[in-house]
Amino acid sequence: MQAPDTLDLRDYARLAIRHMAGNHDHKTGYPYFYINVHADVPSASHNGWDLIDVLSRYIDSLILAREMTGDTHGTDIEERYRRLLVENLNPTDGLAYRPETPWSQHEAEMFDQSRALNGLVTWYMQERSPELKGHIERMVNGLWQSAIHIVKRRAGYSFCFFPYASRFEEGWNPATPGEPCCYNGGALILPLTKYAEVSGDERALELARRFLHYIVDETRIFRRDGSFWPDEMHLAAGHFHTRSLSMAGILRYALLVHDPELIAWVKRAFDWAMTVSGSFGWFPEGVGTEDYYTTKHSETCNITDMVHLAIKLAEAGHPEYWGHVERFVRNHLLESQWTREDWLKPPAANVPEDDAVTTRRCMEERILGGYAGRTLPNEFVADGVMMGCCCGAGPRALFLAWDHILTRKPDGLYVNLHLNRYSREADVLSWQPHQGRLEVGMHSHGPLAIRVPEAAQESALSVERNGSPAPYTRRDGYVRIAEVGPGDSVTLRFSLQTEERHERLYNWPLQIKWRGDTVVAMRPEGHRLPLYRREPLDTDACPQREVSENERRDPAVRW
Ligand SMILES: [Zn+2]
Repeated sequence: MQAPDTLDLRDYARLAIRHMAGNHDHKTGYPYFYINVHADVPSASHNGWDLIDVLSRYIDSLILAREMTGDTHGTDIEERYRRLLVENLNPTDGLAYRPETPWSQHEAEMFDQSRALNGLVTWYMQERSPELKGHIERMVNGLWQSAIHIVKRRAGYSFCFFPYASRFEEGWNPATPGEPCCYNGGALILPLTKYAEVSGDERALELARRFLHYIVDETRIFRRDGSFWPDEMHLAAGHFHTRSLSMAGILRYALLVHDPELIAWVKRAFDWAMTVSGSFGWFPEGVGTEDYYTTKHSETCNITDMVHLAIKLAEAGHPEYWGHVERFVRNHLLESQWTREDWLKPPAANVPEDDAVTTRRCMEERILGGYAGRTLPNEFVADGVMMGCCCGAGPRALFLAWDHILTRKPDGLYVNLHLNRYSREADVLSWQPHQGRLEVGMHSHGPLAIRVPEAAQESALSVERNGSPAPYTRRDGYVRIAEVGPGDSVTLRFSLQTEERHERLYNWPLQIKWRGDTVVAMRPEGHRLPLYRREPLDTDACPQREVSENERRDPAVRW
């Protein structure tokens, strides 16, 4: 069938799979963390974070990107990543230990645990094997045993935390102090809650609750107004990603136990986060009480968390937050991925031999499809490096958005995002950013609800079913068509606003041209690896392509 040749998130997921399979150390099997793309000879180098953190993110994101695409490229390398993670799980305390390497000592780092558990939970959702359940339960038990539990104040109220950033088998390593969201437990709330959701494990849920009380009620990381400036102890380290990851965990916990006050708490923090960020999905790596301390570059890990938060806040009764999802995904999530072959240049100097930490081989495979660690609004990398955490986080955001384009609810099928999706329930075809038009080809029975973009809420709409005007009602930002069934085609047309808007982001006065929720141009332009070169998107004519019926996919794993 003919379909608009507009943004298809699967294209980006396929590229990401190639990067995740390509960016590994052939000798040890581990991924590399830093990819230096500005050097005369680009290189990739190891860092302690690649042993558990990036390894686990790749496991998670490879599963999710394959759910989107069915692409089997590099499954042997994925298998090696999985084996390495399992080999690093300590059979006694269940925690994931970094192996002793020239760039790391043998220890269990606490942020690593959150990423390892996240990878194991996604893998468990895919396979549901007793072995994986055993690994997860040993880890939950080890986390419980390692935490300091405080029981006080009122019946039923307890909280817990970790005192330092990492531990050895026999006890804590005092070298690095803790930090509430990164090391002391905040980052663990999300995977613990998700595991409790899919398995009913009460101990995982109780542990999530205790870390949550620590973050929400005991630390002052998040203030009453939702702000998360760093406290006096961590002045220069207002690390956005671990705060937004903790917020995502708290939101998922709130949704699981139906706690509207906690949902409102997360919404305040999200809304505050938007006051220090770019509307198009640009989130600083760190926020500081002084402007000087705020890092003036965006981290892809943050985009992924904010996409997750916006999706779940939208589902939690704030449908206007789907607009945030569209703006984050259509713009800076896509621009933060290295997609351009013409940016790859042959090395400008002789290529030295590899050593244990650094490689300069196979750099095209490592770079293409990976994600920037530190983008400026209009420049791919502020300091020349891509980071493994971001490379492993970006595909997760693609999946979250793709999986939430369509939602089946008891009262009908909901189209939440104006993005292309081919599913067994329905095909969603979007003409954005060229035209304000969305078409739903039904393969299942209605009712059908289609979200109207925020900017078009007040304007005239047209809704057609099989080419004739169709009766509809409007509720909570959606148009609703009562009776549709297999073979029906429903079209929503709305006016797509095209306008230039000024946005001041830190010391950048940005002039941004929007078509609906898509940025089609941004000034001032970047220099070295400039972003938002989107002239082909700035046309009313929408290109078409052929789509085959066997492209329809629905995921077995849901986040
Ligand atoms: Zn990152």
